[in-house]
Amino acid sequence: MAAISATLEATAGKATSEACMLIVFIGPPGAGKGTQAKRLLGYLGIGHLSTGDLLREAKAAGTPLGKLAAQYMDHGRLVPDSLVLDLVDQKLRESQFNKGCLFDGFPRTLAQGCSLDASLAKRGTPLTLALELRADEEEVVNRMLRRAAEEGRADDTPQTIAHRFEVYHQQTEPLLDYYRFKGILSVIDAMGTPDEVFERIKIAVEKRRAK
Ligand code: AMP
Repeated sequence: MAAISATLEATAGKATSEACMLIVFIGPPGAGKGTQAKRLLGYLGIGHLSTGDLLREAKAAGTPLGKLAAQYMDHGRLVPDSLVLDLVDQKLRESQFNKGCLFDGFPRTLAQGCSLDASLAKRGTPLTLALELRADEEEVVNRMLRRAAEEGRADDTPQTIAHRFEVYHQQTEPLLDYYRFKGILSVIDAMGTPDEVFERIKIAVEKRRAK
């Protein structure tokens, strides 16, 4: 994580609160994070850092990290923090993140959240906002099964989906209280059309920006 902080410190001069939006996107698997993240990126013009995408790329490329990560991903388990933090560290060096970043699927554990916060605190630009996409579990499972069929995702079987929910409840949900306590959590109702959900997200972002 020290390297993440070095990377972020290097861009600290550009990271005024107005210019730099740092947003964390949290929600159960299948809640529409990917879809909404793309829209929000277009709206804010900041970089997108999806650890799920990065891990899938590494897996498809057959890199050593990808092969190791696949052993966890294929069983719906979280990839160890050290691997994910290395990946995030490398990615954040890119200049596309100078104006801000939408963290998608990261942090996924309280430990990852604390590591990220420690780095951001050092450069004086704390997270702007944590968005929780809250969706009905049954609807979310249906979305995931549809997506698995469309995209041929091997990690989306009924068994791994159930396990990913368990992991979300046990390991990721504690982050919500953490961000609520810090006063930066906005809960977004993720039920409805993508347009409706995005309107809610925009309202939450603008409300935060106005503070
Ligand atoms: P996602 O596309 O975000 O649902 O991620 C797909 C899979 O990648 C997850 O089920 C995990 O196995 C792994 N993964 C993605 N992000 C993380 C993270 N921040 N920490 C640990 N594992 C992750």
